[in-house]
Order: sequence, then structure tokens, then C-alpha cells
Amino acid sequence: MLPNIHILATGGTISAKVADKTAMTGYTASVVGVQDLIDAVPAIAGIASISGEQVTNVLSHCLTIDILLRLAGRVNELLADDRIDGIVITHGTNTLEETAYFLNLTVNSHKPVVITGAMRPSTAISADGPINLLNAVRLAASKESRGQGVLVMLNEKINSGRDVTKTNTMAVETFQAPEMGYLGYLQEGQAYFSRRSSYRHTVDSEFSPLSVDNLPRVDIVYCYLDDDAFAVNAAVAAGARGIVAAATGHGMMSDKIRNGLIKASQQGIAVVRGSRCPFGLITATGDDETCGFIPAGSLNPQKARILLMLALTRTTERQELTRIFQQY
Ligand code: ASP
Repeated sequence: MLPNIHILATGGTISAKVADKTAMTGYTASVVGVQDLIDAVPAIAGIASISGEQVTNVLSHCLTIDILLRLAGRVNELLADDRIDGIVITHGTNTLEETAYFLNLTVNSHKPVVITGAMRPSTAISADGPINLLNAVRLAASKESRGQGVLVMLNEKINSGRDVTKTNTMAVETFQAPEMGYLGYLQEGQAYFSRRSSYRHTVDSEFSPLSVDNLPRVDIVYCYLDDDAFAVNAAVAAGARGIVAAATGHGMMSDKIRNGLIKASQQGIAVVRGSRCPFGLITATGDDETCGFIPAGSLNPQKARILLMLALTRTTERQELTRIFQQY
């Protein structure tokens, strides 16, 4: 009996076409539907019994919170069904890490959930979509993937939805977890896990399952030489309930931004101190207490935003938010 794997398609370059086979950009996105994706990889029929549905068909930078919530709801609904053994999600690569982390925190099941995509359009010479989809189905069908949290499968590497980030604008080996490392490899159809994520996820997450219609607004403020608080003020004026600072170095920022963020925090807006550096931790300093800030730990700003939006559905208390940032 083959495992039952359900594919949820959301769009992205994996669903794109361009007339010139050598072109890797300038494609028309959102033209290949879920059945065409499945039909392009006949070999998956030998691995799993496949069903599929189109959740949306957009480039991933055009996804909305509304779609994310709908996707999480659908994944939980499908995984609660005894007939479904695992889920594969096809997704654009640009914001794939945000969706992967969001689902890692909101999926309420041990069953495998694997997200994949492609860096080259479906029509390209050496397109990577078909092999990535094949490997994603193999991974979702493998027993070793159970309880590992939401996984990202591209380029034969198994990454954790928590740690993975897109590192390269065009290269097929773009998805990496530069400091934490891959969870393992998917080679010749076999999953080889070499580590587990030690952060809370899926069934251990206090955010799964999530039953809200919307998430509180959280904005990211990027810090740079000779900046001022205009972006902080804009976020506050737009009604942000949280702000993540992509600050410099170990979360350091100019006096103007710092004062703007202290003011925001005094107004009850949660402020997370992150970094624009690709590597390293943001650990607590005495200043966090004084200013009312929350250190981001090892989360990059876009993932810190996902966690803060979820955390703010439960609490606005700084100590509690700090605990959440330590555990997830
Ligand atoms: N270039 C992106 C991709 O690889 C577009 C997107 O994120 O949808 O899919």
C-alpha cells in the first residue's frame, strides 16, 4: 500500500512558463496548475498515491496573511484525516521561509509536511521543479520525516522550516541554514536525517492549531547609517502592534531609532531587537529591560515577524514574549 500524499499548490516559479527555454527570469508566473505539476513527474505515482488541490496561484511575495491562515487551516484539516499520510506544498521561493516557519508553528500533527519550489521556471533547460517535487513527495512519504516539524526540500537538502533561509537570488542551492546546518539529505530516494530541531514546533507549539481570522500587524524597520525614526513612526501610525528592528550588529541602533522604539514600546507596541547580520545570535542585554525590547535570538527579521504576529495573539506582556522568543 502506497502512502497517501496530498499536494497543495500555491504558485511561484515552479508554476511559471517562459517561451525562451534559456530564460530564467521574465517568466509568466501562475500558469501551471497542480495537475500539470503532478503530470510532469510520472515517477511520483510509484512512490505515493497522489491527490492535489490549488490553494492559490501567486508569486510568493504576493501572498497575504489571509492566504497563510487559510493554508494552515487546510493543512490541519487534511492531516486530521486518517487517509492522509503527508502533505507537500509547492510555493514560490522568495517568501518560502516565512510560510515554512509559520506552518512549523501552527500545524497540529506529527505527519510530514514538506514545502518545495523551484528557482527555474517549468519551461527552463535544467528546470529544478520536477526533481524538487519528486524529492518532496519522497520525503513526505518517508517515516523518518514524522515529528521533524515542517520541512523544506530543494536541491536534495532537507532543511528545517525554522532555520532555513533563501541565501541566493538565482542559484538552485539557495536554501540553506548557514549556521544551524541542514537537517539531512534526500539521496537516491532515501531520507538521511543527521539532526533534529531543538526548538518547539507543530504539536509542541502553543500556536497549533490556530483559530484566529487575522493576525496583529507587525512591521520590520531596517536600520542603517544616519537613519532616523521615520519608519518607526510610519509603523506606529499604520497601527502596528509589533515592530521588529533589523538593527546593526548585535541589535544596535542609532539614538533616533532607539528613542523612537522606546516611545513605541511605552505605547504598548511590542519591539523585537533583531539584526540585519546574516549570522549570530541576539542575546539579552541590560538595555532590553530598560527600553522594553525583546531579543530576537537566532531568528532573522522576517521570521521574527512571523513569531511576533503569532505571539501577539496570546500575549502582549514583555516577559512572556521574551520566553516565546527563547523557545521557538
Ligand atoms: N522567484 C520566485 C520563485 O522562485 C518567485 C516567488 O517567490 O514566487 O518562486
